Amino acid sequence: MKKISILIPAYNEEEVLEKLFTRLANLANKTKDYDFEFFFINDGSKDDTLDIIKEYAETDERISYLNLSRNFGKEVAMIAGLDNVSGDATVIIDADLQDPPELIPEMIDWWEKGYDDVYARRSSRGGESFLKKLSSKMFYKTLQSVTRIPIQKDTGDFRLLDKRAVEALKQIRESQRYTKGYFSWIGFKKKEITYDRDPRAAGQTKWNYFKLIELAIEGIVSFSTAPLRIATFIGTAVASIAFIYLVVIVVKTIAFGTDLAGYPSTMAVILFLGGAQLLSLGIIGEYVGRIFNETKNRPLYLIEELHIGTRKKSR
Ligand code: UDP
Ligand code: MG
Repeated sequence: MKKISILIPAYNEEEVLEKLFTRLANLANKTKDYDFEFFFINDGSKDDTLDIIKEYAETDERISYLNLSRNFGKEVAMIAGLDNVSGDATVIIDADLQDPPELIPEMIDWWEKGYDDVYARRSSRGGESFLKKLSSKMFYKTLQSVTRIPIQKDTGDFRLLDKRAVEALKQIRESQRYTKGYFSWIGFKKKEITYDRDPRAAGQTKWNYFKLIELAIEGIVSFSTAPLRIATFIGTAVASIAFIYLVVIVVKTIAFGTDLAGYPSTMAVILFLGGAQLLSLGIIGEYVGRIFNETKNRPLYLIEELHIGTRKKSR
């Protein structure tokens, strides 16, 4: 029998786990032609998430878990999971049931038809504010305009990946991760299915606007050097204008002498140039910072405990 790994990053999810287990068990019961592995990544939860998972794992050998040494964030939790799953295909799913597990059989069907990456696109987003929807839309637009890799709109990490897509993702060891982009980057045969995104079943979202902006910058900077080019363009434009202005001043001074006026215009130019320079430095800094982080070559994550439910591994 083929094995499907369900990869679930979980951070402080004690409130939803029971519902999640029920839904997953239902899924496994209905999809009898496959073996299932429920692979939890406990991303340094501060609540009882790990204890609850452990409790379930005692009686259910489909459950495996990996306990990270601290909270590393969802991006790292996902690669930690991918490194350790053993299925012929892997489904990444949020613990909070915003991604309905009932969609997985359909994903499996497409996988059986030869697709390597069956991803779920949200046709609606329940329980999300207007502002979040708008900013998300603008972000996808910007990202697509600065990179040549096709970026999938309105898709999260909820998807089924064939083993070879998982192997490909495992090779990407960047420390500042933007997994959504990697799914596009690896290529392979992709299939889109649509669903309505549910609101969180319980508990709180771990994202705030500050974190989302961080992720957005990550997405753009890790996939494109366009901001550096924009800095070059702005620099060139400003320098050209400044040069023309310089010629004008020199000619004016030679022809009419100087009246020592021009304090406001001098200040304006200095401030503008200073601002443009700081902006460019900031952009360069974003990239230098990433070079710095990558060269440190630290491990992506550290494992506290790894529990594999079934003894026999199909690896
Ligand atoms: N998550 C994680 N580590 C974190 C934050 C979140 O593993 O540091 C998990 C979380 O448990 C959930 C998924 O990532 O399974 C998505 O998180 P959340 O629901 O908070 O994000 P949203 O759906 O609001 O984008
Ligand atoms: Mg969520």
